[in-house]
Amino acid sequence: MFQLTDEQQMILDTVRRIAEREIAPRAAELDETAAFPHHSHRVFAENGLLNPLLPIQYGGVETSTLMFSMILEEIGRVCASSALLLIAQADGTLPILHGGSEKLKDKYLNRLAGDSPCLTALAATEPSAGSDILSMRTTAVRSGDRYVINGQKCFITNGSVADFFVLYAYTDKGLKARGISAFVVEKGFPGLVHGKNENKMGMRGSVNSELYFEDMEVPAENLIGNEGEGFLNLMKTLAMSRLFCASQAVGIGQGALDHAVAYARERVQFDKPIAALAPIQFMVADMAAAVESSRLLTYRAASLFDEGKTREAETQAALAKFLASDTAMKVTTDAVQIMGGYGYMKDYPVERMMRDAKLTQIYTGTNQIMRLVAGRSILAVD
Ligand SMILES: Cc1cc2nc3c(=O)[nH]c(=O)nc-3n(C[C@H](O)[C@H](O)[C@H](O)COP(=O)(O)OP(=O)(O)OC[C@H]3O[C@@H](n4cnc5c(N)ncnc54)[C@H](O)[C@@H]3O)c2cc1C
Repeated sequence: MFQLTDEQQMILDTVRRIAEREIAPRAAELDETAAFPHHSHRVFAENGLLNPLLPIQYGGVETSTLMFSMILEEIGRVCASSALLLIAQADGTLPILHGGSEKLKDKYLNRLAGDSPCLTALAATEPSAGSDILSMRTTAVRSGDRYVINGQKCFITNGSVADFFVLYAYTDKGLKARGISAFVVEKGFPGLVHGKNENKMGMRGSVNSELYFEDMEVPAENLIGNEGEGFLNLMKTLAMSRLFCASQAVGIGQGALDHAVAYARERVQFDKPIAALAPIQFMVADMAAAVESSRLLTYRAASLFDEGKTREAETQAALAKFLASDTAMKVTTDAVQIMGGYGYMKDYPVERMMRDAKLTQIYTGTNQIMRLVAGRSILAVD
């Protein structure tokens, strides 16, 4: 159904090898130390995996959405935090790609070319504006050839390490959604202040930061598109980002299933492997069915994006996001159950995977919001 070309299969085989050899062995330590994944970052950059979606004209390889989805799954299978690094990169790139002028694209997208280690991010969420993004308070006021920006953002993946990021702010609060604009902000712009990095339950090998803007000056030419186009730009980016989150969740689910199966075949109780017990077989069958159906829905949504069927793709991506992340949560919990007391210990990766899975139900739009988005779209109501 989702046929890969020989070249795509070769890329995926390489990604799997990199995941097994380079990423997996460091996943537990990353989680333990809650550090930025420097090694994954370097390995991704060296292998041209940091920005797979970047168009050829800006020095990228321009993989399909489906291919990127599969890459995220492979990385997410061994280290969800490292997959999150790639998702944050895409989040910081797509708004410029979708809405930026050619001049802006040339200026920033070229910086991501080839084996560049340049990091990006997307900054929309604020302490008082999560699901209700229109309640954001950050403002941008035009002053000559600059915008002066005041406000704050929170939870921003890669926020404190990004070389540049996309920021959403009101240029006219009275216009609500039509008053939000998007800007490219560079590390080092005067008035950009980094707050604390969060101490998280899971995805601990990922940096999530507070950002403060104190009369921060941004050149007017860093406005993405026109004033007031930020909200639609954000929605377009998030629609794809949800798909990427689903891919990451499929990877987490598959990784936990693999560990549970291997363990069940080895673990002997009552003189036989627990794999021979019907209740374990039932659990494994349910886990495999859930992961496989999440994968197929995710691939379908990715393919729809590739075919340019954007509206359908966005609905399918919302469905895939909540199905795959709810599945990742259930499957990782069941993997811990199958492994009994050992599953609960940090010696085995399923404990980390269970904590990592939780985030996939929350970020890029919570699963409640995903059900609203999908339900409204299917019912054709606002
Ligand atoms: C680790 C991490 C990384 C993140 N990375 C980024 C990033 O890089 N950039 C960025 O901008 N943001 C980022 N976020 C923010 C993330 O997208 C938000 O946390 C998420 O959208 C939810 O917002 P909130 O946390 O304020 O929850 P709230 O919106 O306050 O929701 C709280 C609860 O209420 C429910 N709820 C809210 N509104 C409704 C409704 N209308 N109907 C039904 N239920 C509702 C929610 O589902 C949830 O259960 C990140 C968050 C985390 C935790």
